[in-house]
Amino acid sequence: MTDITQFDRTGLERLFAELGEPRYRARQVLRWLWIRHASSFEEMTDLPATLRETLAHRFEIARPELIAREVSRDGTRKYLWRFADGATAESVGIPTANRLTVCFSTQAGCAMGCAFCATGASGLTRGLHAGEMAWQVAGVALDMGARVSNAVAMGQGEPFANYDATLAALRILNDPDAFGIGARHITVSTCGLVPGIDRFAGEPEQFTLAVSLHSAAQSTRDRLMPGVRGYPLPALREALVRYWERTNRRPTLEVALMSGVNDTDEEIAALVGFCEGLPVHVNLIPMNPVDGSPFTRSADERIRAAVRALAAAGVETSVRAERGSDISAACGQLRQRAEGP
Ligand code: SAH
Ligand code: SF4
Repeated sequence: MTDITQFDRTGLERLFAELGEPRYRARQVLRWLWIRHASSFEEMTDLPATLRETLAHRFEIARPELIAREVSRDGTRKYLWRFADGATAESVGIPTANRLTVCFSTQAGCAMGCAFCATGASGLTRGLHAGEMAWQVAGVALDMGARVSNAVAMGQGEPFANYDATLAALRILNDPDAFGIGARHITVSTCGLVPGIDRFAGEPEQFTLAVSLHSAAQSTRDRLMPGVRGYPLPALREALVRYWERTNRRPTLEVALMSGVNDTDEEIAALVGFCEGLPVHVNLIPMNPVDGSPFTRSADERIRAAVRALAAAGVETSVRAERGSDISAACGQLRQRAEGP
């Protein structure tokens, strides 16, 4: 049966048009699904009984099962969800003083094969649909008893390899009749699929874009991120310029610093060369250790050297705070449990 949670407002409007129902049914159903967390059509008491029956006949409301939850010393919580077909995905809730950021997965696994990433090691199981993504956010909000202020597609998976479903999820998160999270507070992180970046630049909402760069030396990037060899650095740089020209919004470039790999003086010089004059914000991420991985976190001195060099070239730079590392809830540590380590 079709899972109705996969539809954003446009999808629901299309559906109700087909059923000869007024458009506002979409708003009603969105509110039932994402504000009141209804688990059956019967509960949707402001819909006519006949419509509720029709819907129940054609659709299901799938709710993933929570199969594991871990709480970090710093309050970060990690959740493992299982969908009806057995596929699993993780999401993370990161509370700060007055915010709750939820990091969600867009695919079960990932096909891109990045050398330093725990998800990359296990390959792709399947893309998630929008409801499966949105639920990872709803489930965290319910468990933490707080409103989600920020959502980031930085869990497992490559969002632009599952573009339409990801966009529908972002729209559910943004919709005032669902999560009501401001578009600027919703971020998508891509490993650098250029056609996806171009498409994203044309979307009407002001969603935020982050691009995983990791190295501005082509041979290093090819080795670290084999899945994006087809989109070499000059093509990526041009896409970032086009994105800026079209949206007037600065993308973030993510660089996870790995000792001896992308934190040497030459690598830092290449990074500065790539970023100079580009309207970007660089986010340096202290590499999170992944079991069995040869890649290790850069020394603080190397992180400072990168910050200094970028600042000297006038590139806006920040260093990401390390959260949830005691429960492996940090970037790149999310993996598919079902398939083991
Ligand atoms: N597939 C997308 C989004 C998910 S990964 C992407 O690659 O951008 C989210 C971020 O975590 C990316 O910047 C990714 O490069 C980074 N990452 C992966 N493994 C990591 C690790 N072990 N330590 C730090 N960051 C990591
Ligand atoms: Fe996939 Fe992103 Fe991990 Fe690369 S870093 S394997 S693109 S999830």
